[in-house]
Amino acid sequence: MHENKKISSIVDTGLADIEPVPLPVFPEKGIEADTLRLDRIHPVISGNKWFKLKYYLLDAAAGKSKTLISFGGAYSNHIVALACAAKQCGFESVGIIRGEASGRPSPTLQAAAGYGMQLRFMSRAEYREKTQWLHELSIKFPSSHIIPEGGAGEAGIKGSEEILALADQSKYSHIFCAMGTGTMCLGLARAASAQQYVHGICVLKGFQEFQDAARLRIHHDYHFGGYAKKTPELIHFMNQLHRQTGIPTDFVYTGKLFYAVADLAGRDYFPAGSRLLLIHSGGLQGNRSLPKGMLDF
Ligand SMILES: *Cc1c(COP(=O)(O)O)cnc(C)c1O
Repeated sequence: MHENKKISSIVDTGLADIEPVPLPVFPEKGIEADTLRLDRIHPVISGNKWFKLKYYLLDAAAGKSKTLISFGGAYSNHIVALACAAKQCGFESVGIIRGEASGRPSPTLQAAAGYGMQLRFMSRAEYREKTQWLHELSIKFPSSHIIPEGGAGEAGIKGSEEILALADQSKYSHIFCAMGTGTMCLGLARAASAQQYVHGICVLKGFQEFQDAARLRIHHDYHFGGYAKKTPELIHFMNQLHRQTGIPTDFVYTGKLFYAVADLAGRDYFPAGSRLLLIHSGGLQGNRSLPKGMLDF
């Protein structure tokens, strides 16, 4: 069931094209910008979530675990990706969801349940008492493998180091990604070469402490009010980006990433001749929580 080959083949990383980002601000400032479309590698196990899950899946298989357990919110890209990956690799899965069960589960949780994930809801207060329920879970699911929220942790960083192998890395002076837990950023920074900087666009408000890494720059001014918050300006930008370039983005992560890079370029942040690579880390399913018609795509 869980041979390593099978696990590695559930997505097709060959589908991750590199495309130019033809926004007028880049040629105006004498710089080039490409995007690595990780959103294309799988319709559900999308973007960076595959890279962050890969070594957790392989470790679980090596340890003969039957059940994968992880955590997240009601709109979590990680939870739905894990549910789908678990099903494809032959694991059971359990999702611990922060917040009370509502009458109508989010589209994300409906999809996760559709892949066979058992969902357990926990109030925020209960959720904080992690040691208590982690112990109970380990009794209830004896051969389980616990994956940290968002796929954070060493295995997640290790998988993220493989992202840059999909691009001709020597071409780029600056690599940009959206940053939640920072796992992807750290992996990219480890894989970057000595002449490159990796930039993380932080999508959370007030996220300051961070494990230092050489060649990593974090930008804190593009969270638009906080995690999963949005403004009309962000939505307008995402619609305009799609009209001008054909590139779809999500409002939690990649919309803020593309906005930030275009804004920095407009403010002469980059010397002429810079070559930027934006990691399109997927997450488009998150847009299903927006009112219909807000986005043109
Ligand atoms: C989860 C996610 C991120 C954040 O990745 P981290 O490794 O937690 O920083 C970025 N983009 C998308 C689309 C995501 O789903």
